[in-house]
Amino acid sequence: MQSSETLSPAGTSLETSRGSRVKILLVDDTPENLISLEAALETLGEELVSAHSGRDALRHLLEDDFAAILLDVKMPDMDGFETAELIRSRPRSRHVPILFLTGYKNEEHLFRGYDLGAVDFLFKPIVPEVLRSKVAVFVELSRKAALLEKQTAILQKTERQFRSLLEAAPDAMIICHENGNIALVNSQTETIFGYPRAELLNEHIRLLVPKWHFEMLVTPDRDAAETHTGPVPRELDALRRDGSAFPVEISLSPLQIEGGLLITTAIRDISARKRAEEERAKAEARVHQLNSHLEQLNAHLEDRVMERTEALLRSNDELAQFAYVASHDLQEPLRTVLIYTELLGRQYNEAIDEDGRKFMAYVTENARRMEQLIRDLLQFSQLEAGGESRFTQTSCDKALDEALGNLQGRIEESNALISRGPLPVVYGDQTQVCLLFQNLVINAIKYCQTDIPPSIRVAVEPQGDEWLFSVRDNGIGIEPEYTEKVFGIFKRLHGRDKPGTGMGLAICRKIVTRHSGRIWVESEPGVGSTFFFTLPKAAAELT
Ligand code: ADP
Repeated sequence: MQSSETLSPAGTSLETSRGSRVKILLVDDTPENLISLEAALETLGEELVSAHSGRDALRHLLEDDFAAILLDVKMPDMDGFETAELIRSRPRSRHVPILFLTGYKNEEHLFRGYDLGAVDFLFKPIVPEVLRSKVAVFVELSRKAALLEKQTAILQKTERQFRSLLEAAPDAMIICHENGNIALVNSQTETIFGYPRAELLNEHIRLLVPKWHFEMLVTPDRDAAETHTGPVPRELDALRRDGSAFPVEISLSPLQIEGGLLITTAIRDISARKRAEEERAKAEARVHQLNSHLEQLNAHLEDRVMERTEALLRSNDELAQFAYVASHDLQEPLRTVLIYTELLGRQYNEAIDEDGRKFMAYVTENARRMEQLIRDLLQFSQLEAGGESRFTQTSCDKALDEALGNLQGRIEESNALISRGPLPVVYGDQTQVCLLFQNLVINAIKYCQTDIPPSIRVAVEPQGDEWLFSVRDNGIGIEPEYTEKVFGIFKRLHGRDKPGTGMGLAICRKIVTRHSGRIWVESEPGVGSTFFFTLPKAAAELT
């Protein structure tokens, strides 16, 4: 391994890789000895540093790291053993191998040297080959030791990273052996389960997850196993220290190491998620319940609406029938009143005085008025008869011609000026459309200004699926607060000075409504009124 940064046994920098040189310290007080040592070791290719005394050696050791020290025992001032003692007392040089160079071979001498941490002795006269090979071994040893130190440091760093990763995990992380005994836990495990770390180490993981089993590593779900590459999370119950159970999601991942199999179990507390799921399920159930309740209510409401509509239709029919019967049957006695009043006037004319004749005139007038009222009511009640069966392609031009024909006398009498544009064909009841025009035109003549003759304009314009008709006059107009009221039954804004029953516009509204249209009036008192109404276009015109 080629590396520039290495660590010495004492933790300081030292060149250790093959090819890079290490330093060897040679300590001897005799210059000739130093020269012969250098000559013998030169071929090793390492950096040789010479020291002439123990003190000199200690000074070098302060500045540098050495792979080995060759130390002469017999030196003046401070001998080799004293120097070795000081070398060993310093942390930086405590483990540097020392080779003593000595002429003595006695045992006491050797023991003292070994006591001081000597790794070997070389006896003078020194044989260069022996010296070289011994130093080479120490150099190699030194290199290996430095390498080991470096690897240990890397390993420690990796372990620190691994532990901080484990701690940073949001889940409880438990590393256990194959038999389930816990080897390591992170602090999340302590928080989630309420156990101090020490109480968990070497306990079985089932203390925390009773249903934990090693086979969970092999998923029983074949499909999931085929598609899923990582560990498949499972939902199980876990137990806290206080005995309370809570739901967790756990996933297992194996790690084969030299000493056997290690299993990392990641445990996530899913209580909050479960609660949310339950809440959602409850809310969904309530929505479902409300929906079905609403459906029931709707069905009930529909039934009620249908019942009410039927009842309303029935009462409408009954009302129409009543109006018809009443007005029809009332006509008969009224005619009798008229006939007998006339007879009374003719046969007893002489016997009746002036007041009596006046009273008879009132009776006749009111009976005629009532006759008119009944006729209009009869007409109104009969508008519904026949439903849409009388609807056909109806020419509005023809309907207006007929209406104007019926009003010929009134038109001439009043000097009315009538202008008209071409009118369309509509889908409707010819008779009723004629009556509609007739009522509007007669009103325009009736409610004219005293000083100017009536001027009436009948026009039409298309508007979507409908025609928008207008009958405009230059009459007396209607005050804004009455523009809606005038369409009511028997609603009049005038007294006897203008003949009428107040049914004309009510009949108009009923006709237009039967044709699915709308009718309204826009008016300016003293200037004139415009009655607008819509009728559906004939089928042919719709495209
Ligand atoms: P009637 O004409 O028999 O009174 P209508 O139902 O036709 O009954 O009209 C109701 C009231 O609306 C009338 O009494 C009249 O006061 C007012 N009116 C109808 N048409 C016009 C019009 N063209 N100009 C002014 N007032 C009108």
